[in-house]
Amino acid sequence: MILFPDSMPVFLNFHAHRAAVSPAEAVVRNFVLPQQGPGEAEKVAGSPFSAGIHPWYIPARTDEALADLDRLASCPSCVAIGEAGLDKLASASMDVQCGLFRRQALLAVAHGLPLVVHCVRAWGELLALRREFPQELVCVVHGFRGKPELARSLLDKGFWLSFGFRFHPQSLTLCPPDRLFLETDEDPRPVDELYRTAAALRGCSPEDLATQCRENLANLARKLKK
Ligand SMILES: [Zn+2]
Repeated sequence: MILFPDSMPVFLNFHAHRAAVSPAEAVVRNFVLPQQGPGEAEKVAGSPFSAGIHPWYIPARTDEALADLDRLASCPSCVAIGEAGLDKLASASMDVQCGLFRRQALLAVAHGLPLVVHCVRAWGELLALRREFPQELVCVVHGFRGKPELARSLLDKGFWLSFGFRFHPQSLTLCPPDRLFLETDEDPRPVDELYRTAAALRGCSPEDLATQCRENLANLARKLKK
């Protein structure tokens, strides 16, 4: 798997729909299929990226999009599947969303990749789905804004958490360092700013937090790609 070389910038942005906006930012670019098409993801092949089918944009031809996703997942620079997810505000039924979540989770397991999870008001469904999968499925809940009780419950069940600019400070501080990522998602600001805020709350330096998050991505790859 191609991760960021040591010569690359330090601040890992685990999930963003754009390229880097600061020289210090190392972005895992996310591609939403089929909106962006596999061609777009392939253009950046060589830099770490993630790709998946978002619950807001479920295509009519799901099989085709999943076949494209399967192919993209084989790229050495694909570091995660997703965002896959469950969203009570999306127009697709929960049944359809759960079905697609399962199929993306199976792809993640088959390719030894983590699954980036988008979850809106469907935590019960997410936990039920997670129980269907073996330990090797690592789910990273992205853009986590939940309260500490929810954070604890997810962490207890093996989930990882990725925080954006909007987060509950206690949830951020209780997350163990080895199950944490930071991301900007749709936000145009560089992730560097978020590292400074998060590091101050966690009582460490932004550089140490950055080293930890980069190691987390490398550790996930080592753990899953066996
Ligand atoms: Zn996103």
